[in-house]
Amino acid sequence: MQEEYRLIQDSAKRLAEALAAEAGPGGIAADAFSRQAVEALVASGLWALASPPEYAGVGGDPRALALVAYELARVSGSLALSFVAHSSVCRALDNFGSSAQKQDYLPRLAAGSVGAFAVHEAASGAVAAAVATRAELAGLDLLLTGSKFFVTNGREADVILALARSDSQEADGPSFSVILLDGSTPGLTRGPHDSRMGLNGTGSCEMVFRRCRVPAEQVVGDVGGGMGVLKAALVEYAFFGAAAVSLGLANSCLDIALRHASERTIQGLAIGEQQAVRLMIAEMDGLVGASGMLLWDAATRAVETPEQAVLLASRAKRFTSSSAVRVADLAIQVCAGHGYSRELPLENHYRDARGLTIHYKTTELLGFDIAGLVLERRGAEAWPPPELGSE
Ligand SMILES: Cc1cc2nc3c(=O)[nH]c(=O)nc-3n(C[C@H](O)[C@H](O)[C@H](O)COP(=O)(O)OP(=O)(O)OC[C@H]3O[C@@H](n4cnc5c(N)ncnc54)[C@H](O)[C@@H]3O)c2cc1C
Repeated sequence: MQEEYRLIQDSAKRLAEALAAEAGPGGIAADAFSRQAVEALVASGLWALASPPEYAGVGGDPRALALVAYELARVSGSLALSFVAHSSVCRALDNFGSSAQKQDYLPRLAAGSVGAFAVHEAASGAVAAAVATRAELAGLDLLLTGSKFFVTNGREADVILALARSDSQEADGPSFSVILLDGSTPGLTRGPHDSRMGLNGTGSCEMVFRRCRVPAEQVVGDVGGGMGVLKAALVEYAFFGAAAVSLGLANSCLDIALRHASERTIQGLAIGEQQAVRLMIAEMDGLVGASGMLLWDAATRAVETPEQAVLLASRAKRFTSSSAVRVADLAIQVCAGHGYSRELPLENHYRDARGLTIHYKTTELLGFDIAGLVLERRGAEAWPPPELGSE
């Protein structure tokens, strides 16, 4: 691994371990958004990671994002996912923001403001093209009306990117834009914290926009270019971060199961000596190893062959998230009653991992997209992939 990645990972690992040590035996609170953790990320410089170098970041390298998300997820799935969501906002502004938007928002986002990306709605599910929120021109302003749900960082967000229909005429079909809003915009209200199975420390909530008035220059990128912003900032970037959250959770589960299998003895024999337990360990090891390699390979190739980024990111997210659920499940089985009880963080990891198979695009819809791209290719992929095999 190149030195710059090692430095980023070391810094994230040190920070994650310090946060966990500070939190004490129960670990980082799983049910509350941690402003304290955000401050620590700001102090370490990692909160600005996705911003361009002139705004204290490293730009849109998905490997850097994945390394930080992975280390954070090993101690808190919620903190890691909040970081990924915030980073997707920085990434969208870096790629598509006007210079005024960058100058105004990126320093704030580096200094501790929290970003949220609001796309999904009650009637849209994972299909972004079904959103009904509208941004209508009113003189020199836009009026934003609609609502979004399950928005990561929603309760805490100071800076919001919202996908909206931007064209009231829709002569050539619907057109979508990404609108940049301050968290204090009049007309914006937020629901209570969503109460969920897991990932409850992400400040997730519903957001309602009642004729929120923003200057028309608050469109990020071109009017009608919203889907392109989503593709670059969410699919081709944040998906790698989300995959790394799954990998971090899975890796932590394996660690805990291995320790338990060595330390727990029955009739003088460690349970790790039992064949049934070993088979579970082998399966976990294979899934964690394969997820790690797939994620690094996919993130590397996405940079080198951007035309393949959607397939690579979708594949990495789908495989790592499904694998993490299986690994967490097996780890609980290895630790049995101790895994099921709250004395170990496994039950929490399991609930967090489950959410990553739904987050942004469900496993099924990712599968639909992946199959479409693979069918278009009309053949299996060469191995090793030419762009890696030539090294
Ligand atoms: C942890 C977490 C974080 C999230 N963060 C954000 C966020 O930051 N911003 C945001 O905007 N949203 C966020 N969401 C919302 C998330 O994107 C949606 O929950 C997700 O897109 C699925 O939509 P839905 O829940 O309405 O499911 P539905 O779309 O109702 O799907 C229900 C079921 O039907 C299946 N299904 C639906 N359509 C098809 C189809 N065409 N083919 C096959 N199967 C189909 C689905 O796979 C699923 O099994 C988050 C969700 C979670 C769980």
